[in-house]
Amino acid sequence: MYDYDELTGSAAAASQASAREVVVMKDQPGQPHKGKVFAAVHAHADDIPYYASGLCAKLMREGYTGYIVRTTNDERSGGHTNAQNIYSNEQDHGRMAAALGFQDVFDFYYLNHDMDGISCIDLRGRLILIFRMLKVDTTISFNPSREDEENPDHWVTGRAVEEACWMAGMPNDFHEHMLAGIQPHAVTERYCFYARPSQPFNRVVDISSQIDKKIDAIAACKSQGDGNRGSLLRAELARQGKRLPLFGSDDRTADRAYVRQFLLDNDREYGRPHNLQYAERFYYIDRRPTKSKAEEYIEKNAVRS
Ligand SMILES: [Zn+2]
Repeated sequence: MYDYDELTGSAAAASQASAREVVVMKDQPGQPHKGKVFAAVHAHADDIPYYASGLCAKLMREGYTGYIVRTTNDERSGGHTNAQNIYSNEQDHGRMAAALGFQDVFDFYYLNHDMDGISCIDLRGRLILIFRMLKVDTTISFNPSREDEENPDHWVTGRAVEEACWMAGMPNDFHEHMLAGIQPHAVTERYCFYARPSQPFNRVVDISSQIDKKIDAIAACKSQGDGNRGSLLRAELARQGKRLPLFGSDDRTADRAYVRQFLLDNDREYGRPHNLQYAERFYYIDRRPTKSKAEEYIEKNAVRS
């Protein structure tokens, strides 16, 4: 295991560790990522809040500009009619993105639960346009593997992100973008969620300093994701003539307290082996260009003719 800041502190040094070795990423001082852009791509309004809101908040604190893309319309989650669910999830998504500090929000509105029936080229093309337009350096999304992933929206989204990252750098893919003045731009760093127990991880991200932002993000998920569970429970207890001191005297306090008390067990468990209060896990892939063997050879051995 490597400690991120015990190396040189640079991402390049961290990436030298084998892909299988676990690197702990702690807070970095200042804004080492200033000028870099990441896109967080999820399927449902509560995916990023649970799997990666700590990492998103950390990277933006350290200088990244963040954008968020939601691929589905979330019509099947929310407890109301599909139309009402679409609207309430859209509202939640905007509030969650604002709480975390995202620069902008993209909603693709593919049918919820049915993404394995859509055109993967359509989805890929839309992502490629966004990655090129925003000059995205880094993505945060699902592991593309289908193994153990019950929700097709998750792996379809993860696969499209994986494919779009390298194709965005190829001028012959969607070449009409260039005619519109949008240049090829490959995405070179990827963080994949640790969403299922069999999925791999090689980064443990210390999110202890960002935990209040993560709580805000989860609490914004009221249509799905239990963000309003605390206030609902507080009202239910009041009807029974009871109260929990934990829930305070207003809905916001109750919602946040519920999240902190009952919904962060994974984050505590992932941090425990590394003496961190809260952590998230990811599989990190580094595709930043390095010198080829031929380039290194030329640098050492070329002579004037
Ligand atoms: Zn989901």
